[in-house]
Amino acid sequence: MRRAAEDGLTVKAVGTGHSFTSIAATDGVLIRPQLLTGIRGIDRAAMTVTVEAGTPLKRLNLALAREGLSLTNMGDIMEQTVSGATSTGTHGTGRESASIAAQIRGLELVTADGSVLTCSEKENPDVFAAARIGLGALGVVTAITFAVEPVFLLTAREEPMPLDRVLADFDELWAENEHFEFYWFPHTGSTNTKRNNRSAGPRRPVGRLAGWFEDEFLSNGVFQAAQWVGRAVPATVPAIAGVSSRALSARSYTDIPYKVFTSPRRVRFVEMEYAVPREAVTGVLRELRAMIERSPLRIGFPVEVRTAPADDIALSTASGRDSAYIAVHTAKGAPYRGYFTAAERIFTAHEGRPHWGKIHTRDAEYFAGVYPRFGEFTALRDRLDPDRRFQNDYLRRVLGQ
Ligand SMILES: Cc1cc2nc3c(=O)[nH]c(=O)nc-3n(C[C@H](O)[C@H](O)[C@H](O)COP(=O)(O)OP(=O)(O)OC[C@H]3O[C@@H](n4cnc5c(N)ncnc54)[C@H](O)[C@@H]3O)c2cc1C
Repeated sequence: MRRAAEDGLTVKAVGTGHSFTSIAATDGVLIRPQLLTGIRGIDRAAMTVTVEAGTPLKRLNLALAREGLSLTNMGDIMEQTVSGATSTGTHGTGRESASIAAQIRGLELVTADGSVLTCSEKENPDVFAAARIGLGALGVVTAITFAVEPVFLLTAREEPMPLDRVLADFDELWAENEHFEFYWFPHTGSTNTKRNNRSAGPRRPVGRLAGWFEDEFLSNGVFQAAQWVGRAVPATVPAIAGVSSRALSARSYTDIPYKVFTSPRRVRFVEMEYAVPREAVTGVLRELRAMIERSPLRIGFPVEVRTAPADDIALSTASGRDSAYIAVHTAKGAPYRGYFTAAERIFTAHEGRPHWGKIHTRDAEYFAGVYPRFGEFTALRDRLDPDRRFQNDYLRRVLGQ
């Protein structure tokens, strides 16, 4: 940090580059995470684990499982680093349990002047309130302390369900399950739902062959082929979507958390995801469906819907508000602007907050309106990084100069 300051260069610490926005881009000094990995320590009395910031989530999950421990909730994949995932507010779905950043109990960061700052609820609480989802704007995170719990079992129930029924029963589906999510296939009235709930066991993992067939062959291999056909002949997309939505049949399995929450995602895609107030989600989805039906768009990728409870992190997409996430995707290389622009118009009409690592067009003025604590974050940034050592084009847009 000091050398960069002497040379007048900006600094950007990055994770694995899984963000779809240019949030991790820099033309200054790039700090790569590969040599900042590993478990620093486990505190069984406090039930916390402290990890180096560049540790990939998959390594953390495996290490915790070996110790009989687990995070409480996580997103769809575990390729990202702990610092990269938390810095953009990466989340899964949960009724009570929130994003990965909300599971942080302490942070260590190197600030713009090269000093090491630690924070928690008790120590530098103003920094803690913002830096758990810091967008890389407040310092280089070097270690993160997460709350953990004894490893537990989750039973997943995956089941196709008509969209109209999911929309009509959304409040019950959410209230009756610890983790509810669903995928809706545009141009069809079909969804695949997933309900994960804690279970007393026994462990009943997906069988090896069934796992390969359903998670690799159908969800990745056949799905990829469907994307190619849909791209070559867009008129076939609705028919393919109909087949895709019926390809996966109901199944149930019981396993440790990361094996239930995460799965391989081999089909490359681009994504926009917005958090809207939870009570608005069914209305937003109806508007999204009407928009797609009215338009010439042919969308071959499902829309993913998840939830999170309100949390206390300044720039969390769920900051102070029970939220539902709606994510739209297109296959990598396929045109996405028309679809995302129309979807974004609907999301922003409901005071939506975009995922910091996924495509959006919002700027600081918009964020000042949808985040009541936006000024708290930018004031802290002014204090910790007055010279904008961590500046890049993305931060200039979303946080202002
Ligand atoms: C296939 C796929 C699936 C995904 N699934 C989900 C999902 O289920 N839920 C969800 O919410 N998101 C999901 N995402 C988005 C992804 O989790 C985020 O974009 C995440 O930030 C990527 O982590 P990364 O390690 O690649 O970080 P990067 O993209 O490399 O960096 C992200 C940000 O973190 C900052 N950063 C990284 N390390 C540090 C550090 N040490 N100190 C300070 N700042 C740092 C960077 O500066 C940058 O601002 C998915 C993305 C992909 C490609």
